[in-house]
Amino acid sequence: MDIQTQIQALRDQLNLWSHQYYDQDAPTVSDYEYDMTLRQLKQLEGEHPELITPDSPTQRVGGQALDVFQQVRHEVPLQSLQDVFAPEELSAFAQRVQEVAADPQWVFEPKVDGLSVALEYVDGVFVRGATRGDGQVGEDVTENLRTVRSIPLKIENAPHRLIVRGECYMARSVFQKLNALREESGKPLMANPRNAAAGSLRQLDPKVAAQRRLDCIIFNIQLTDGPSFRRDSEALDYLAGLGFPVIDHPVYPDLESVSRAIGDLGENRERYPFDIDGAVIKLDDLEQREILGSTAKFPRWAAAWKYPPEQKETVLEDIVVQVGRTGVLTPKAVVRPVRLAGTTVTNATLHNQDFITEKDIRIGDTVVLQKAGEIIPQVVSVVRGKRPEGTTPYLLPRACPVCGAPVERDEDGAALRCTGAECPAQLVRNITHFASRDAMDIEGLGPAVVQQLVEEGLIASPGDLYNLDFDRVAQLEGLGEKSAQNLQKALEKSKSQGLSRLLTAFGIRQVGAKAAQTLSRKFQTLDRLMDATEEELTETEDIGSITAQSLIQWFAAPQSRHLIETLRTAGVSFESAEEAVGVALAGKTFVLTGTLTRYSRSEAKKLLEAQGAKVAGSVSKKTGYVIAGEAAGSKLAKARELGIPVLTEEDLGAILTGTFPI
Ligand code: AMP
Repeated sequence: MDIQTQIQALRDQLNLWSHQYYDQDAPTVSDYEYDMTLRQLKQLEGEHPELITPDSPTQRVGGQALDVFQQVRHEVPLQSLQDVFAPEELSAFAQRVQEVAADPQWVFEPKVDGLSVALEYVDGVFVRGATRGDGQVGEDVTENLRTVRSIPLKIENAPHRLIVRGECYMARSVFQKLNALREESGKPLMANPRNAAAGSLRQLDPKVAAQRRLDCIIFNIQLTDGPSFRRDSEALDYLAGLGFPVIDHPVYPDLESVSRAIGDLGENRERYPFDIDGAVIKLDDLEQREILGSTAKFPRWAAAWKYPPEQKETVLEDIVVQVGRTGVLTPKAVVRPVRLAGTTVTNATLHNQDFITEKDIRIGDTVVLQKAGEIIPQVVSVVRGKRPEGTTPYLLPRACPVCGAPVERDEDGAALRCTGAECPAQLVRNITHFASRDAMDIEGLGPAVVQQLVEEGLIASPGDLYNLDFDRVAQLEGLGEKSAQNLQKALEKSKSQGLSRLLTAFGIRQVGAKAAQTLSRKFQTLDRLMDATEEELTETEDIGSITAQSLIQWFAAPQSRHLIETLRTAGVSFESAEEAVGVALAGKTFVLTGTLTRYSRSEAKKLLEAQGAKVAGSVSKKTGYVIAGEAAGSKLAKARELGIPVLTEEDLGAILTGTFPI
């Protein structure tokens, strides 16, 4: 066999398998065998690139990535459909059609919830595929569509020209696998199969699209110079005969049968591997279609029955509360398993306490669940009539279900948050924060390493960092002797960071780097700060009562005490690294203006503040002194106007050394 014949034989074999798999739903070989044969073909084509043709199954794996999609004007527009939501609307639609078509036959199809595409074939070869876009102009996604194995790349006995329309979708099973993988690797989940399909089809890199395993199903001939048909159903049968995956299209003689089919499909949506958001009813007779014509947006001879999102009743057996990595408590409904929109549902979203209270959702209640696009269903309502006796309103716990620390409500929302300093649920995040640059600044201790240390059981609290077993750290994957030594050094160094950074590292709510610095200056040691009363705290500059309470609560918690004692034993400094706030300039306000030569602005500000002064940004009646450097402008003028003493940079030097009478 010469190479060309060999290549052709492999292609025919692969095409046949694809056809059996996708169009006939009757695979005859395993995926493995398919992949191996494909690899064989790839190898041969790699050795003879001149023999590669665009219709080769190897071209499905994804060609060059694009910068942007080309626009395509559709020769025949891809129109929309008029919606019907109620039986009256359906019969009104049928009546309008019957004014032209006396005895209509109806084609009935599931409405696939995917993306409409037009596929163009020339002499049986797939040459171009485009999205619907606005119906007139779409985007050329040929390369991505080539990766869709249910789209034939080559068809036998085809007319010279053929454009078909279909719906590209992601099968529910593929979607679930994709999301499971994304969850494992910490990526955000896709909302629903439709979004996933849309995102995949618009990937600029066809290799990514290829991995997404999209599918396509055909429901119309847009244009052909081949045989002509009297009925749509005949045209669809013809497409099926050519090897296209064609949508189910039974024909019904009257509206009663159509209505029954609508009900039946609504109840059996799961039968299909794709999501269905409606049923499409089309006039079968193509000549009559011509007469009816179209509006600007949709044909007058078709309508889409839209199903409401599926809802099911089930019993709420329990509410479990999970603690997220940021400490937020999320209640989750555990429900008696129920089939809903194609999957077995065991959980539902409850959002937060406010949601539960508003709907008065109680354990034991019968609830109505709904899935509208999202993966986890919502609780729509409670069936009050089915409420068992003895239930009580549900309240989220006041203590964290993971660590037992008190739970606090965010001032700015409905979220409840655990306050535990050593809460295992928030461990990685808390320790990473502890080590971060603004806090203890421990080099080499980023989120990945922290995660590893936690997973290996080497640390369970920020305090454990100072008792690390470095021999074991050295054995961790990707770390080694050198990293372990560096980490040890960095930890040793961090012990003398001082109070301000330590306070920041604790991650006490409301206490960021700035507040930590102020507190550290004022109280000088951690022990003095811990003993401070609310009054003493609120007397501190910029510390309000919310921050004061947050501090008091945090210091009172057993977990915090434990952490503090571990750090003390490890020799972590509890002393302020900043100089004590002098009192010499307490109560005095300065404004700096113009260019200073001996100090930078921020230096001058720091030095003044270190002695208890306040440095303001603008001049007002409350300003005590203005220090004017060179080329001072409006602030100087304002000071003069208000009669505020204006001093020079030399005076500032004297003030700072205490030799200026002030
Ligand atoms: P709508 O998006 O509500 O305007 O509905 C029109 C869309 O339904 C079309 O653009 C197609 O993408 C889609 N569709 C899905 N299945 C079918 C079908 N069997 N026949 C016609 N359109 C369909």
